[in-house]
Amino acid sequence: MTERPRLLIVGGGLAGLLLAARASEQFRDRLSITLIERELSDGAQASLDTRATALSRDSKDLLALWGFWSELSGAAKAIERIHVSRRSRFGSALLEDEVSAEPMGWVVENPLLQASLLRRCIDAGVEVVEGYRAVKLTAASDLPLLQLEDGRELSADLVVIADGAESSLRSDLGITVQRRAATQFAVAVNCEAEGVDNGTAFERFTDEGPLAFLPIPHSDSNKPRYNVIWCAHEATQARLLALSDEDFLRELQMTIGWRVGKLVKMGRRAGWPLSVVVSRELVRARCVLLGNSAHTVHPVAGQGFNLSIRDVKRLLILIESELATDAPFGALSRLMAFERASSADHEQTILATTVLSDLFDQPHPITDTVGSAALSAVDIMPPIRRGIGEFGMGRR
Ligand SMILES: Cc1cc2nc3c(=O)[nH]c(=O)nc-3n(C[C@H](O)[C@H](O)[C@H](O)COP(=O)(O)OP(=O)(O)OC[C@H]3O[C@@H](n4cnc5c(N)ncnc54)[C@H](O)[C@@H]3O)c2cc1C
Repeated sequence: MTERPRLLIVGGGLAGLLLAARASEQFRDRLSITLIERELSDGAQASLDTRATALSRDSKDLLALWGFWSELSGAAKAIERIHVSRRSRFGSALLEDEVSAEPMGWVVENPLLQASLLRRCIDAGVEVVEGYRAVKLTAASDLPLLQLEDGRELSADLVVIADGAESSLRSDLGITVQRRAATQFAVAVNCEAEGVDNGTAFERFTDEGPLAFLPIPHSDSNKPRYNVIWCAHEATQARLLALSDEDFLRELQMTIGWRVGKLVKMGRRAGWPLSVVVSRELVRARCVLLGNSAHTVHPVAGQGFNLSIRDVKRLLILIESELATDAPFGALSRLMAFERASSADHEQTILATTVLSDLFDQPHPITDTVGSAALSAVDIMPPIRRGIGEFGMGRR
């Protein structure tokens, strides 16, 4: 029997896990898959400390097509509508789908998503090498060679680099990035409220950046729960992270208002700088970038993983056609076709999220007027409203 080509995926974040799980199920007897992850997080328990991901309709449809949704749907919270407002200014908009009764998106807690994808990988025969860091990738003239921290060397027909925004393997290949230094910094926290749980997500633009409340499945207490991403300037983020829970909750309530109900409980806070990192190239001979290593975008419209899901779809098409050739993954020109298709999608998404994140940052009479007018306009004009809603739903 001839040996199956080997796909090596470095990075078991959501992007790497999804590709490994789906590719192993789709190409079970035709491809051998190894996933390298330096530290798999364990524990699939939902708690007030978890992070969450908003999935667009298109993402949900792909996850359903690939057979993942039946397991995830029980842990997903539907976003029925999005309330968009501006702090201390006139103008708000309620975005909902006026045509179909389908939710605008879904929110799944990351540990549950991660655990589900990892289980699928293992069941489908992915070799998971856990607890070892990949330290060097050499693009040899023949097959690329990956070195692990324990000295092991692995070669592969295709290496997918999914090791996150600060990818060291991307640098090994000499691929440079365009980096927009963070002007906004996020505080992420989950909280519980006393109020009506009707599946509304809230996006409130402040003078320092957007504040998002995504509904997440509630706990035994039956109170509505939200995953909160609060974007602000660096000094404000540092101050918010240093506040006592009580003071933080009070300031959060003041900023979002009472539309979410009374905030009564919160989990642990975490903070990130929101830099935008975009790789200048996506492929090299037998190597492809995926996920945050290819594009790290502002989380304002929850687009990062949704974009990675579309990249996974394009990669699966590429792998399918490569496996039908005599020399799978051997021709750089074929990988470049994948790069062209992905880059166009990346550029559109990055532009839209950057415009949205900057809309009200740094108050200015012009953006002030335009921003408020934009919010009033979306509430008045169905076609504009549909456009913004469809971006949120991952359609274009
Ligand atoms: C605050 C916030 C909110 C967000 N909300 C949303 C949302 O609502 N919807 C959405 O679509 N997206 C969202 N995103 C984006 C989304 O989280 C990411 O796009 C997604 O998690 C994919 O990440 P990844 O797998 O590419 O990278 P990562 O999650 O960074 O994973 C990389 C993995 O590689 C491993 N690794 C790194 N280096 C090595 C090495 N040398 N050897 C071995 N392993 C290595 C790491 O341990 C890690 O597990 C959000 C992001 C942020 C910051």
